[in-house]
Formats: sequence, C-alpha cells, structure tokens
Amino acid sequence: MNEDNLWCLKEDGYEARLHKHYEGLFTQGNGYMHMRGSFEEGCSDAPQNEEYLRFPDNVTLEKPRHPKSKQGTFIPGIVAQHPLLKEEIVNLPYVLGLEFRSGGESLDMDRCRISSYSRWLDLRDGMLHRSFLWETAEGVHLKCTYSRYLSLADTHLCIQQVQVEVLAGEGRLELAATLRGDVRTNGMNHFAQVIPLAESEGMLSLETLTEEGNRIIMLSALEVSEAVDWQAGVTEMMAAQRGELALRAGDRLTVSKLTAVTTDRDREEGTMYDRAHEQLRRARELGWEQLYNRHAGSWRSKWQAADIGIKGDDAAQLSVRASLYHLIRANAEKDDRVAICAKGYAGEAYFGRYFWDTEINLLPFFLHTHPQAARNLLLFRYHTLDGARSNARKYGYRGARYAWESSLGGEEQCANWQYADHEIHITADIVYALYHYVRATGDDEFLEHYGIDILVETARYWCGRVDWNQEGTAELLGVMGPDEYLPFTRNNAFTNRMVKFSLEQTVACLDSLEVGSPDSYAAAAERLDIRPGERELFRHTAEKLRLPYDSRSEIVPQSDDFASYAEVDFAGIWTDRSRPFGHFISQERNYRSKALKQADVLELMMLFPQEFTLEQMQASYAYYEPITTHDSSLSAAVHGIVASWLGQRGAAGAFLQRVMDIDLSPEKKGAAEGIHIANCGGLWQLIVYGFAGLKSAMWSESIELEPRLPEGWEELSFTVAWRGERYQITIHPGAYEVQKLNGGNPVAGATVGGSYL
Ligand code: BGC
Repeated sequence: MNEDNLWCLKEDGYEARLHKHYEGLFTQGNGYMHMRGSFEEGCSDAPQNEEYLRFPDNVTLEKPRHPKSKQGTFIPGIVAQHPLLKEEIVNLPYVLGLEFRSGGESLDMDRCRISSYSRWLDLRDGMLHRSFLWETAEGVHLKCTYSRYLSLADTHLCIQQVQVEVLAGEGRLELAATLRGDVRTNGMNHFAQVIPLAESEGMLSLETLTEEGNRIIMLSALEVSEAVDWQAGVTEMMAAQRGELALRAGDRLTVSKLTAVTTDRDREEGTMYDRAHEQLRRARELGWEQLYNRHAGSWRSKWQAADIGIKGDDAAQLSVRASLYHLIRANAEKDDRVAICAKGYAGEAYFGRYFWDTEINLLPFFLHTHPQAARNLLLFRYHTLDGARSNARKYGYRGARYAWESSLGGEEQCANWQYADHEIHITADIVYALYHYVRATGDDEFLEHYGIDILVETARYWCGRVDWNQEGTAELLGVMGPDEYLPFTRNNAFTNRMVKFSLEQTVACLDSLEVGSPDSYAAAAERLDIRPGERELFRHTAEKLRLPYDSRSEIVPQSDDFASYAEVDFAGIWTDRSRPFGHFISQERNYRSKALKQADVLELMMLFPQEFTLEQMQASYAYYEPITTHDSSLSAAVHGIVASWLGQRGAAGAFLQRVMDIDLSPEKKGAAEGIHIANCGGLWQLIVYGFAGLKSAMWSESIELEPRLPEGWEELSFTVAWRGERYQITIHPGAYEVQKLNGGNPVAGATVGGSYL
C-alpha cells in the first residue's frame, strides 16, 4: 500500500460543484491563523464581496450563500458585530492571491483548457498541492504545480510556491501577486479601513483596521527564479505587484510568495510592521528548505502524540487522520483567550462561536494527546466567567450561566431564542469537562486555582434556575436537552444528571478544600463571597434534583414528558433520507413530535456508563435509535460508541461510516461551510472509547480496555497520556497490549495482556 493513500486527502479532477466542499476540507491552519483551501487565483462567478443581510435562521436547515466558493482567512480572536447575528469571526483579507495570464487569457479552472488536474492535502505536514496542465488559447502548454502551507513552527508565516514548466509553445506570462481587502463576512463589511501598499520592489502589504479596532498587517515578499521587473498595482482595496516573463519550451519558473501576518492581539513585543518585517527577514535567511524542515518537524511531533494507526481498513485510517489533522490545526496552543469554534475555523457558519462541542466532543482527544491544550481550553472558560456571570444576571439569576454560543468574552451570542434560553446543559457540561481534565491529568491544583470559581458560580445559577414542587423536589422545567428538536421539556434526563453531578462536585470540592487547603479555601470564600448556608443549599439541591429515571426504568425516558409527544410517521414524512429530516417537517410539528435530532439519553449513557445496566443500555438504544434522525453531526459517533459497547458490530461499523462521511464524502459536500470539528473529536472517541473500549478517565483510575474491533481491522494502535505518563496501546483481534512509554521510548516490563471480548 502506498503510504500517501493513508496520509493524503485527494481531489482528482476538478468539478465546480464540489469546489466549496474542498475549500472547507482542505483548510490549512496552525492555531494562529487558518485559510480555506481556495484557489490562489480565485474562481470565476464567485465574488467575495457580495453584500447581503443574513438573518438568524434555523441552523440545521439553513441554505448557505455562495454556492461555488467562499474564501476564508480567520484569526481566532478577531471578531466583529453583525447587526442581527451578534459577534462573528471576521473573514480577513485574502492572503493567497497569485494570478496568471497568458496571451490575454486569465488562468481560471472553469474557463481555461485544463487537464490532469489534481489536488491533495498531505496530512503529514499540512501542505496543500495542486497540479494541472494548462493549454492556453495561444497554444502554450504549461504544467503548473502549486504548494503552500501555514507554518506550524513559525505561525505568522504563510508560504506559497508555484512552479510553471513550459512543455510546448512560446508566449508571455503575466503574473500578479495580490493581497485583497474586498472580502465580506456573512455579507457584511467589517473593515473600517484597508490600506494597501506596494512597498518596495517585489513587496506588498495590506493593513486592515476592523470595526472593533483590531489591526492586521499582511506583508508579502515575492521571489521568482528569473528576473522580473515588478510594477506596483495598488487599488482602493488591493495591493498588487505585477510582472511579466517570456515563456519558451523547456523553461521552468518558480514563483514564491512569503507572507507574514501580525495583529495587535499578538503577545510578542514590537510594532506589528517591525515584527512582520523581521519574520520575513528571518524566513528569507533560513531559506525554503529550513523553513519547511522546522514546520515539518512540528507536525511530526504532533503526529507522534496524536496518531491512530489502523491496519486492515484504509478508508478509516485516512479518515481518522483527516479528523486528527483538523483537531491539531484548530487548536491555538499558545493562546488561552480563544477556544475551538464549531466549524474549526474553516468557514463562516456558526460565526466562530464556542459550543458544548469543545468540552464534550473535543476535550477527550486533547486530554489524552496534549493535556496542556486541554488545560487551555478550560482556562478559556475560566477567563470568560465574567461573561457567564452577566448572562446569569440578564436572566435574573445569581452566579454564572455559560452561553449556548459563546462570544470571546463569554456572553450569549445565539440569535435563536429557543437555544439561547433553554439549552442550558452547557453550564454543567463545562464542570463535567473540568473534572474529566483533573481526573485524566491529576492536575488537582487546577480546581483549587480556577475550577472552584466556575463550580461555585455555576452552582449558584442552578440553585436559582430550579423550581421546587410541592413534594420538595427540585425540577428543571422548560429545558432543551442535547436533542434540539424538543425545546421545552420537563426534567431532561441528560441535563438533570449533569446538573446533579455539577452540584455534587461543587460540594465535594468545597469540603475537601476546607480540610486539605484551608488557605485556598479562605481565599476562595472571600473572593467568591461564599455565604453561610450556601454549601448546604448546593448539597440540598443536588440531593433533591429530580432524575426522570431510576434503576427500574428499562428505557430511560429523555424527559418527564417525553411519552406525551406525538408519534412520527417517519416513512411517510422523510421521503429522501439523504437530506436532513428537518427539511421535511415544519418546526412547529417537529417540536411536538418524538423525532430526535441527536443522541440525548445515549449521550447521558456514554458520559455516565457505570450508572446504567446493560439491559437499560440495550433497551434505550433499541428504542431511541430508530427515532433519531441524526440531523446533527454530533449524533453518529455517540451511537457508534454505544452500539460498540453493546456488541452490535454491524451497527457500530455503519455509524463509523456515517462519521467518516460527514466531512469526507464528496456526495454530501459536508465540509463546504467548514469542518464539523465535534465530529472529528467524535471519531477519536468512537475509536478510543468505542472500539478500543478505553474506560473514561472520569470513572477509571488506570487504563482499562475492552476492545471490540470492527470487521476487518487487523490492528489498532495509538498512544494516550494518562496522569502524567504516556502509554502505547496496541490491539489485535484476540489480544491487546498496553506499554508505558518514557520520553517517547518504550519501557520494557509494563506489558499487560488481555483477551478479546
Ligand atoms: C447541534 C448542537 C451543536 C451545534 C454546533 C447543532 O446542530 O444540535 O448540539 O452544539 O450544532 O455544532
């Protein structure tokens, strides 16, 4: 097997209708900045500066604009205000512009005579390649080969190179390198000022001031293997340098564009211009090869910690690497002022906001591959506690209420009231994640210094949010659980269990801190103004909070009122299963029907597996699976995990395929609006929790496995970080092995054998 097939995402042949999908799938990034996989020269009939007003809409069903292409340049943390949709990440000026003309014909994948087209993203080093033959109208035959990357080692740098080989004919080649400011985000112009400059010979820059007051400098240096007389071509919104060359059969040209991007958010010292110039100077000094080696070395060390090896299923192998690549790229490992947004910084959809996806879907991957990144993600929630406090105040409660869709500052940004008001479980999900982090890493101090504030403030919110009934039971009414197709349920099982857990842990943490670390306790009590009797109230509320199930419930009800909703005639309504169920039913009818958007009770079972019997899991899976539409991309992985635990190999395999298709299938074009990053984390979980059967660090002190490999898998191998150590796990049908690693080298003697279940 050619290794490339296990590491490269490929687009063989150009089809305009798939272009936007590949723009999303081929997004490159280095934590600091992200760029969609658009063509350097852009696309015909795909203006990027179209103005329109986007309204809040049903997220599941929204029809996106820009059917063919939407370029995207995102720097986490650079946001602006949309008049209807609230805070959104800004789509920044287009860095990648490199345009060619020959004999009056502009290079364009749709309009020119192009053959042997192929593009591939090499996941090993995040390098995007394109190659094709261009036969110009004048009869010049050119072989064009592009490559580009955003350096993972020098994160301010974007490095591009194009090689043009003249196969036959002669003529002239005009080239233009551009930085373009005529970019809109969801139809809005967020730039207060754009200053294009053609600096010196072969240099260009674009300075952008956003409405919010952020400044971004993009500074490019051009190099061509033959002498070019550069002409500056600055317009109101664009900096350009243009040059011209003769083409003769046998010629080989190399055009390079090296761009440094700096912003006023950077933590480095020095002015933005000075830093950008210094970045370029250093990069040129290092040269193409060394720059690349530094970058490739960074990717290598990421892959060492994160890779999952699968033998016997090449499609799954490539797919999991695609997910891991996007997870690694999307993480701003040096910046705890941002987290990972729902589209993985690969599109404008979901506006760059933070959801529960981070804590429940992504965190486990980071916990076990890069614990420091997991810590940063939680620190983001700590830093945004003030925003959460203001959300609570707005609803009339004490304490902190995390936003369903969080801004950079933690304030609620969801423009759809039903989610913003009712999907409250996120506040408890964050506490669950906090504990998961502490249990997986042993970093108990995190609770003492940061976690305690989150615990106490969110506990206060819950005490205000519950209603007490006549029997003295606390209830959570008017709640949307993870299943977003039932917005106002009574006592959603998932939400109530999470809240109970959250309150219990708050009490436990206060109890143990008071005894074990009285100084820290006293400081927290003062800082948080913990009043006498508050801890008792938390304890009492936790104790009395209703759970709509107990050990006798065979099928765990999604909520107290679930049984009263209408049955759905799925066969009659959902006539085309390749499209979301939500397209076939009005929201009004959907909201009173037993059709789930996504895993809800099964999500609960996945997070608290030890609290349910096998019979409960089996019965609940059998009941909910057929009425779940999986309209949310968060659903398939959870179902796959539970199916695998139940030994339903066929079903687990089918869910694996579904998970893989969400972003990779060209028929579904799922990546067009960005990457479903929660599903990427879901795939990691499906393999590690579902197939390897790793017991979650939430409930297990040491590494315990119960592997159930899918049909045809001959070997599954990966490493996990667990309480400060790293372990290599290798599973074959019939046996598995866990080996402790020390500084990257296997240590003999710690092998644990096991039998196949
Ligand atoms: C899902 C949510 C998810 C959000 C962002 C929605 O479609 O229902 O559970 O948090 O997308 O990924």
